[in-house]
Amino acid sequence: MSETTEATPTAHVIIIGGGAAGTSCALFLSRAGMTSTIFDHDRTILKRAELHNFPGLVPTLGVDWLAQLRASLAEVKGSTQIQERVTSLFLEGDTVGVESATQRLTADYIVIATGQLNADFTQTVGIELTDPVQPFVTANIVVDRWGATNVDRIFACGVVAGFPSQAVICAGSGANVAVGIASRVHGQFWVDHDEAPKPDQT
Ligand SMILES: Cc1cc2nc3c(=O)[nH]c(=O)nc-3n(C[C@H](O)[C@H](O)[C@H](O)COP(=O)(O)OP(=O)(O)OC[C@H]3O[C@@H](n4cnc5c(N)ncnc54)[C@H](O)[C@@H]3O)c2cc1C
Repeated sequence: MSETTEATPTAHVIIIGGGAAGTSCALFLSRAGMTSTIFDHDRTILKRAELHNFPGLVPTLGVDWLAQLRASLAEVKGSTQIQERVTSLFLEGDTVGVESATQRLTADYIVIATGQLNADFTQTVGIELTDPVQPFVTANIVVDRWGATNVDRIFACGVVAGFPSQAVICAGSGANVAVGIASRVHGQFWVDHDEAPKPDQT
């Protein structure tokens, strides 16, 4: 049994980056009745991680955890993946868009979840960057409590948004952005809870 708010209004979201933050964001968006397109070029740093500090998980390879997360996303449906690097962003009327080598797509919202890699492609729409807070990171995007950037309808999460580089924290930041977008789309605070079965009363 679910305790969620009504899932009628919808929106399409382009997520740039299919690692810990971007995939978690997509999962929560799908559960809120929204659709997403994930652009990813397979450079997640989870490939180098063995997770001993993900609360409640036995030590697990980063890639195995990500495979399980992607399987959960596939079950909920509503998200597709394009294996390409996004090269620029653009604004078009009420929509926001991305370009890659073969694609030019628009959406209601964009979520940037590109990890520690170069964020220069965000400069085509003037996203505000700041010096990175942790080692190995090129730049951080300035965000508010919901992951909103200085450009309307464009959000960021995970390492690129300055969150500490641990899978559980980056996954949480992606989920948080999704809850913020869902709340905006639905016009009320989005609650995503599944209830445990009631104890047998007989
Ligand atoms: C050696 C090592 C060990 C680690 N050990 C641990 C650990 O023990 N515990 C722990 O919690 N964390 C660990 N981590 C960190 C953990 O992997 C990261 O915190 C987490 O993956 C960050 O999530 P993210 O979504 O921000 O970035 P990522 O998971 O790196 O995902 C970013 C994704 O964006 C994609 N991308 C980037 N730019 C573009 C673009 N322009 N277009 C399309 N796609 C793009 C990349 O291909 C990538 O798939 C470790 C990391 C390393 C390197």
